[in-house]
Amino acid sequence: MPKLITGVGCPYCGSSCDDLEVLVSDDETKVLEVHNACIIGNNLFHHANRPHPPANPPQAPA
Ligand code: SF4
Repeated sequence: MPKLITGVGCPYCGSSCDDLEVLVSDDETKVLEVHNACIIGNNLFHHANRPHPPANPPQAPA
């Protein structure tokens, strides 16, 4: 049964949102849903499911 983790903090930006809810798989190895996050934070948590992170992640334009 999936597990809902509440009170999760997002580490991405200075807004420091700390009221996210993350639904994880039975074995707690996959993020299934993210609630209360903006689109950037939501994508950040879902990228944790990637088996191999990109070697050279894209950089923000200067
Ligand atoms: S959820 Fe969005 S606004 Fe909040 S800390 Fe994460 S990136 Fe920043």
